[in-house]
Amino acid sequence: MGIYSRLSALIPDQSCVLCAESAKFCVCHECESSFSNHQPRCKSCAHPIGGKLDFCGQCLAHAPAFNHAYTLYDYQDAIADLIKIFKFDHRLCVGDYFSHQLYDLYQSIVSKGVEYDAIIPMPLSRSRIAERGYNQVLELLNVISKKTNIIIDTHSINRIKATQPLSTLNPEQRRQEIKGAFSVKPMPYSKVLLVDDVMTTGSSLNELASTILKNTDVKYCDVMTLARAESKFN
Ligand SMILES: [Zn+2]
Ligand SMILES: [Zn+2]
Repeated sequence: MGIYSRLSALIPDQSCVLCAESAKFCVCHECESSFSNHQPRCKSCAHPIGGKLDFCGQCLAHAPAFNHAYTLYDYQDAIADLIKIFKFDHRLCVGDYFSHQLYDLYQSIVSKGVEYDAIIPMPLSRSRIAERGYNQVLELLNVISKKTNIIIDTHSINRIKATQPLSTLNPEQRRQEIKGAFSVKPMPYSKVLLVDDVMTTGSSLNELASTILKNTDVKYCDVMTLARAESKFN
């Protein structure tokens, strides 16, 4: 028996957190192949679009403050369940799984020639961190942090306003609720990549990008998320 088979014999088979079938990682192959990633997407906000258009109607009417949004999945079905398991049950193996997927997405973005000076994870309010015990967005960046030299800046942005959950609000109410939610310190970057777990209307990421662009020397913001939720307003 070679060293690898001896090692693998010591590691018990895991089961899929979604369907309980046996799986090498925490998600089985079948569940993984059901994750949806609609193409094409709006180049600006990553909302699924049809035909040969580059941008969705929403972005053509009001371009967001960030340049491009990249995402891994559509927030629906199994992937929505998996993200809920990650966020609310705090399953480490799911965070690890997503962190690897996000690393692959990041590599594909930078391989196109975009050079970011730093990654900025969406900050949580102090009360939300106290409630959850950690910032899950930071956990999503574990693999990127280990395998690359990019700066992951967690100190330049503060969430100074505890907002109510945005999910029940319409886009205008969301904009009002999130307005003034962030404070920024000067940062020595020109291009940054903002990261969040799920983007719905994009109002939080838009406010974050707009606050950074208005108050610092940063000239360019992109956005990377795990999933893009179907916004009923788009
Ligand atoms: Zn499964
Ligand atoms: Zn769009």
